[in-house]
Amino acid sequence: MEKNFKDIWQAALAQIQLNISPANFSTWFKNTEIIAIKSGEAIIAVPNAFSKEWLENKYYKLILKILNKLNPEIKKLGFTVKKTKTLSFENPQTVLEKEKQLNLNNALVNKETNLNPRYQFDNFIVGSFNELAHAAALAVAEKPGATYNPLFIYGGVGLGKTHLLQAIGNYIIQKNKKKKVRYISSDKFTSEIVNSIRNQTIEELKNKYKEKDILIIDDVQFLSGREKTQEEFFHIFNALYEKNKQIVFSSDRPPKAISRITERLRSRFEGGMIADISLPDFETRLAILKFKAQEKKVKFPEEIYEYIAKKIEKNIRELEGALNRLIIFYQINNQIPDLIKTKELLKDLIKPPLRMVSPKTVIRTVAEFYDLKEKDLLTNSRKKELVRPRQIAMYLLKEELKCSFPFIGRVFKGKDHTTVMHAYKKISEELKENERLIEEINLIKERIFSL
Ligand code: ADP
Ligand code: MG
Repeated sequence: MEKNFKDIWQAALAQIQLNISPANFSTWFKNTEIIAIKSGEAIIAVPNAFSKEWLENKYYKLILKILNKLNPEIKKLGFTVKKTKTLSFENPQTVLEKEKQLNLNNALVNKETNLNPRYQFDNFIVGSFNELAHAAALAVAEKPGATYNPLFIYGGVGLGKTHLLQAIGNYIIQKNKKKKVRYISSDKFTSEIVNSIRNQTIEELKNKYKEKDILIIDDVQFLSGREKTQEEFFHIFNALYEKNKQIVFSSDRPPKAISRITERLRSRFEGGMIADISLPDFETRLAILKFKAQEKKVKFPEEIYEYIAKKIEKNIRELEGALNRLIIFYQINNQIPDLIKTKELLKDLIKPPLRMVSPKTVIRTVAEFYDLKEKDLLTNSRKKELVRPRQIAMYLLKEELKCSFPFIGRVFKGKDHTTVMHAYKKISEELKENERLIEEINLIKERIFSL
C-alpha cells in the first residue's frame, strides 16, 4: 500500500511539474508525500506549516484534479505537517537530477549568511539583457550602503536574480570577513517571522536582523498578502536604512506589480535603484552554455550548443539543466552525444514550438499574475482592482489571440462588444506612453507563452 501511495504521488508530481514554474515546484513540492488515502481523502504530508498553507490555498484544485484522474477514488485532500528530515522526494528523472545538484550545492551553504559560494561575479555572464542589473549589483558590492540603497532587481524565473544577489554577498564577505551579511528568501523570512511570533522571540529575531551590514531578500513577491511579515520587515528595513546598511531585493516583477503589499513598503522598494533582467539573446545563450561546459571540463560540438540555445530561450536554469543532462550522459558512457542522441536526451526538456494558447489560459494567467480569482475576473464587478486586469485580459485576447470583440464579450459573461472595444482601445492607448504597463504586459505574455 505504501508503495502504491508513492507511485501515485510520483505520477502526480510529474504532472504538477508541467503546470507550474520550476521555482514554485521545487519550493512547494519538495519533501511532500501521500501518507494515507481513506474515505476518498488523500492525506498529503508537507514539511512545514507554511507549505501547508500555500498548498491549500494555491494548489488545492490543481493537485486534486490530477490525483483524481490518477485515482478516481480521491475526492478531496487533507494536508498535514510532518517534520522529518528523511521525507524523500523521488521524482521524474529531471527533478532527480536537479535535486542531486541542489543537494550538492546546499552542502556548501554557510549557515550564518545563507550564502552559497558557487554564486560569484566571476562566473556570471553579462549580456545586454542583464548588464544594468549586473552593473548595479557590482556597484553595491563594492560600496555597500553608499551607492544604490536599496537595490531592487527583478526579472523572470531562472534568469539569474538569485545568482546576482548572492554574488553581492559573497563579494562583500571575501573583501571583508567581518561584514555581517544575511541572504534569505522571502518565504523563509516569512516562516522565521511566523515562528518567532509563535515562540515569542520576535524581538530577538528583529534585533538579529537589525545588526546586519547587508541584508539580501530574494523573491519579495512572496511577501504579498503577508501583512504581519510586511509590518515587521518594514521596521527592520528602516533601522538598517537609517544606519546606511545595504539592502538588496529581488522579485519576479517590478514593485508596482506586486499585489497586496502595503504602500509604505512598496515605496521603500522603489526608493533606491530598480534594475531589470530581461531575456538573453541567442549569442549570450551560447556563451553561457560554453562557459558552463568549460567549467565542468567538457566540450561539445558547436551544433549541440546551438541546438540547445535555439530551443531553450527563456530560462538559464533550463539551459543549465539541458547541459547537465548531456554531461551526465558523457560521464556514464564516456562518449559525447551526437545531435540525434542529444535530441533524444533532451526531448522532455524542450517544449514543442508554438502550442495553441486558449482564451482560458490567457484569463488564468492574468488572474494569477494579479493574484485574483479567475471567476472574479469574469464577473461584472466594478471593483477597481478587477477592472484593470479585466481590461488587460480583453486586450490580450484581441491582440495576441486575435479573438473578435463579440467573442470576447461572450467570454466575459455576456459583456457588450462595445465594452470590450473600449477596454482594448484604452489599453492600446496607454501602452504608447506607460512604460510600466508595457513591462507588466510583457511579463504576462512571457508567462502565457511559456506555459
Ligand atoms: P532566478 O533567481 O532568477 O530564478 P537563478 O539566479 O537561480 O535564477 O539562476 C538560475 C541558474 O542559472 C543558476 O544556476 C545560475 O547560476 C544560472 N545563471 C543565471 N544567470 C546567469 C548568468 N548570467 N551567467 C551564468 N549563470 C547564470
Ligand atoms: Mg531565484
